[in-house]
Amino acid sequence: MKILIIGAGVIGVTTAWTLHRRGHEVTVVDKASAAALETSYANAGQRSYGHVSPWASPSMIRQALPSMLRSEGPLKLKLPPSGRMIQFLVGMSRFAGQPALYRRNHDAMLRLAQFSREQFLALEDAEPFDFDGGHRGLLKLADTDDDKRELLDIGDHLTRLGIENRWLDADETRAQEPGLSPDIAGGLLVPGDGTGDCQSFTERLAERAAAAGVQFRYRTEATHLRTDDKTLHSVQLNGPDGEQWFNADAFVLCAGCGSRELAFSLGVHLPIYPVKGYSLTAPVAVTARAPQSTLIDENRKVAITRLGDRVRVTGFAELADFDRRLLPRRLNSIRDSLEKRFPGAAQWDKAEPWAGFRPMTPDGPAAIGLGRQSNVYYNTGHGTWGWTLAMGSAEIIAQQVAGEEPAVEMTAFRPRRFTGGLA
Ligand SMILES: Cc1cc2nc3c(=O)[nH]c(=O)nc-3n(C[C@H](O)[C@H](O)[C@H](O)COP(=O)(O)OP(=O)(O)OC[C@H]3O[C@@H](n4cnc5c(N)ncnc54)[C@H](O)[C@@H]3O)c2cc1C
Repeated sequence: MKILIIGAGVIGVTTAWTLHRRGHEVTVVDKASAAALETSYANAGQRSYGHVSPWASPSMIRQALPSMLRSEGPLKLKLPPSGRMIQFLVGMSRFAGQPALYRRNHDAMLRLAQFSREQFLALEDAEPFDFDGGHRGLLKLADTDDDKRELLDIGDHLTRLGIENRWLDADETRAQEPGLSPDIAGGLLVPGDGTGDCQSFTERLAERAAAAGVQFRYRTEATHLRTDDKTLHSVQLNGPDGEQWFNADAFVLCAGCGSRELAFSLGVHLPIYPVKGYSLTAPVAVTARAPQSTLIDENRKVAITRLGDRVRVTGFAELADFDRRLLPRRLNSIRDSLEKRFPGAAQWDKAEPWAGFRPMTPDGPAAIGLGRQSNVYYNTGHGTWGWTLAMGSAEIIAQQVAGEEPAVEMTAFRPRRFTGGLA
């Protein structure tokens, strides 16, 4: 089958890879000049198969307002809010207020994540390449007894789903992460979780895919779609050679935050909102002081990850539409969080700042599978978890294109679930 993929982030490239491996003739287009220059560029680097969860959670409602009022609180809103921002907040609050739906979506995401882990391990076995990645576990930190109780509940839930986890007391936590500052109550270790530089991975995989025959066309934007209710016939591409209509048997929409408008042209309401986050990546200053793997600091709402000889800290969920400014106060805040947990770990004078937009759906799960037309697949809206879920969701698309039953129950990910007024 001739297949066009729109978007060369981690989702588009892994999808291209899996489809090519099944014998399809695959072309990938991206308006950027190379793969993984948008959200897949400098994310937290966590492959957190045991940590994925919908953003729209009942606890989010409790935490949102206090967080917005604290200067270092992780959730920020740019005022005045745009219509799109209000629509997203209303949609998210509706979903967050439904605990049963939250639990269903959470379990669905955890199951897809476990499948994704299997697919990553299989790929790394078959096609070893370096992307500063590994599977040395994820540690969620606890500062208080309340934190500990919350983490033990999370651990019980993971155990029920068959996901290995272990509570570590303060000494065991420091044995796991010797560079951690001593004021820690303990932590929940998810030993199967991993790390990796998403941009390097995507770039390397795109190189391999290109060598194997996948066509990549950069600086090429998908601008118009020629469609009817049943079929997408062709996509207008605007690239270095001018405008041209591209025909294919099937299409996969992997355009991250650019997916909303394209889906709209297909009659599918996909209310993806760009939730901005920040990262700082710095060379390790002193190896013994640096993190060994990856950590979640829920109290400061940052993620800290070791990537080879670098350390990365990420944080903030800012609703500011597509405002690309790097606000120094946000960067200073995440730097201070890392410095507090791992004093002296990073060479801050060489740190690289970045901000990116999580392509967030209002309920949490991505949009994966067929939409309205019988030849248009969606693999987009991965929000906070696209790196973790990339290999799993790519394989699911390959299974669906082949007409196979997907390996994971995919009801929670239906692309058309918002059509008809939800959010
Ligand atoms: C601060 C931060 C930290 C994060 N940490 C993690 C983490 O630790 N673990 C994790 O799993 N996830 C994490 N994420 C989320 C993860 O980075 C994203 O879910 C993932 O990168 C999304 O990948 P994507 O391929 O869908 O989108 P992108 O990487 O944005 O790719 C979409 C591509 O589509 C292209 N495009 C859009 N419209 C068009 C068009 N019309 N024509 C042609 N091309 C088009 C864009 O140029 C872009 O290259 C984080 C995100 C942020 C912002």
